[in-house]
Amino acid sequence: MSIQILPPILANQIAAGEVVERPSSVVKELVENSLDAGADRIEIDIDKGGHKRILVRDNGKGIAKSELELALSRHATSKIHCLDDLEQIASLGFRGEALASISSVARLTISSKPQSQEAAWQAFAEGAELAVKVQPVAHPDGTSVDIQDLFFNTPARRKFLRTEKTEFSHIDELIRRIALSQFEVGFTLKHNGKRVRHYPAAKNAAAREKRIARVCGESFMQQALTLDSQYDGLRLHGWLSLERRHQPEHQFVYVNGRMMRDKLINHAIRQVFNEVHPGEDYPGFVLYLELDPKQVDVNVHPAKHEVRFHQARLVHDFIYRALADVLNQTLTTGSESLQR
Ligand code: ADP
Ligand code: MG
Repeated sequence: MSIQILPPILANQIAAGEVVERPSSVVKELVENSLDAGADRIEIDIDKGGHKRILVRDNGKGIAKSELELALSRHATSKIHCLDDLEQIASLGFRGEALASISSVARLTISSKPQSQEAAWQAFAEGAELAVKVQPVAHPDGTSVDIQDLFFNTPARRKFLRTEKTEFSHIDELIRRIALSQFEVGFTLKHNGKRVRHYPAAKNAAAREKRIARVCGESFMQQALTLDSQYDGLRLHGWLSLERRHQPEHQFVYVNGRMMRDKLINHAIRQVFNEVHPGEDYPGFVLYLELDPKQVDVNVHPAKHEVRFHQARLVHDFIYRALADVLNQTLTTGSESLQR
């Protein structure tokens, strides 16, 4: 075969292979866009595990009519504009790929109204066709993205979708994770028209603890130790629970507000538990690491599950120390949480 530039639709579908694995990955991209738009109310409406429909509605800053079509194009983003921005990313998105990728493998309708704009407008894209036509629509301030028939034009991918129940459980798990990343934002999750989760905006410490208890269970919170450590521009805060569990379901880590499954952080946590408090197979924790965005590279993987720390050793040891201090303190004072 001769060398040819791929048609845009195919390029988008290839990119979709990396970001759009299943319905929950679509939900992740859309909810992150809503968070980046400064929304404080986000509603996620799922039909048939997301096979049929995924609708995410927010009250964020919206997209101007003149930019609606652009928002659906590949490499179009309002979040970074130069290399300097890339090296200190403050938003969840920045690749400008999600909407283009999703619309190449599903039917996408986006409706939006910035507060300053009189009326709302809607754009529709489906597989290969990005309908140029943008039409008026009734919509309050904010944005709705409606995704239907995921993988309708990529049967090979569709085949890998699991049952509605399984796909929905991935979405549910994702929303629980995201809910702990932004307490001031209210989230509602519906499945087949029924409200499944509702996390009202949590504006004070008591409300935040209530949200954690709702996500991780009352006993997590009852046995939780709080921590807040700082060192050399690094801050680690959150909760560590000594509740005994048999599954690693209450392990949440966020780096600058982004959910993570980071090897380095997990290693530090495991090491602390092995050395300071052995016997805890699946410790529970909700931890927030905050550091200068320049010290961490998020542009490692398209789905951004991983990051790279410039000073990996320092971060690892800081986390180890912070957790070890809290555990040691508790163990020596023999706090209630250990008397089981
Ligand atoms: P990225 O998030 O990486 O910038 P996306 O393809 O996810 O790329 O979105 C493209 C652009 O569309 C964003 O940069 C943003 O300007 C706009 N956008 C997407 N979703 C929303 C939303 N819910 N509210 C406001 N703007 C949005
Ligand atoms: Mg995005």
